Amino acid sequence: MMNIALIAHDSKKELMVQFCIAYCGILSRYNICATGTTGKLVSEATGLQIQRFMSGSQGGDQQLASSISCNEVDLLMFFRDPLTAKAHEPNDNNILRLCDVHNIPYATNIASAEALIHALERGDLDWREYMR
Ligand code: PGA
Repeated sequence: MMNIALIAHDSKKELMVQFCIAYCGILSRYNICATGTTGKLVSEATGLQIQRFMSGSQGGDQQLASSISCNEVDLLMFFRDPLTAKAHEPNDNNILRLCDVHNIPYATNIASAEALIHALERGDLDWREYMR
């Protein structure tokens, strides 16, 4: 089964929750992992079972990076705050770099996330299953 990873900066967490409520039916067909706080909020709002890493500031972003490098992530939704400089910005950039290394589709805003989720629903990303 494909693995979807979720991470949202603080100002985008509510948006992530609303996105996951809207697409809960599709998301429930996949394994979901997330950084700590993002995962907690989404699972409380949707009832989805989520494998939670540590909170981002406690190293959860690095756990996610490690999971991506082990090819355990098939799709990443990373709702970033583009306006506020973050102390852990280098880690954030590294997560996206690793997605590019491993050819993992990702979305950093809700418009792209919606496009990806519809692609997922249509089966456009099923090729990833056969890459394992
Ligand atoms: P969090 O981590 O989901 O635990 O808040 C994300 C982040 O580092 O912004």
